[in-house]
Amino acid sequence: MIEIDTKRRMEIIDITDEVESKLKDNASHEGGFSSGLCLVYSMHTTTGLIVNEADGALIEDILDILEKIVPKGAGYQHDRSDGNAHAHLRATLIGNSAIVPVQAGRLALGTWQRILFVELDGPRKRNVFIQFIEQ
Ligand code: ZN
Repeated sequence: MIEIDTKRRMEIIDITDEVESKLKDNASHEGGFSSGLCLVYSMHTTTGLIVNEADGALIEDILDILEKIVPKGAGYQHDRSDGNAHAHLRATLIGNSAIVPVQAGRLALGTWQRILFVELDGPRKRNVFIQFIEQ
């Protein structure tokens, strides 16, 4: 599990180093993991996970496009009880997990690929589950 304390209402946080660190911890034990898959899974309904470039301008673009596609308070039924329907709906567009191949004990990410946690209704304490699947 990775714990994340988000600081803003909407925010994208690069968690690649934390996932790599979990992988190294796992690989350092006897019979440790060296190849297969790494599942990164958010335990929440108003967050997302994506694999993309951690460029500041692109991150702003991603947050902007989510606000345009799913504007806040546009007559959603869930807003009658909770007021955060836009956050749930944005989360359903993104998806709540990422799967990254693992080869020779390393995440097999492309040059610009990073694992990005997307906060859509912060700030909050969030948990991301990491599961290694050996092949
Ligand atoms: Zn809600």
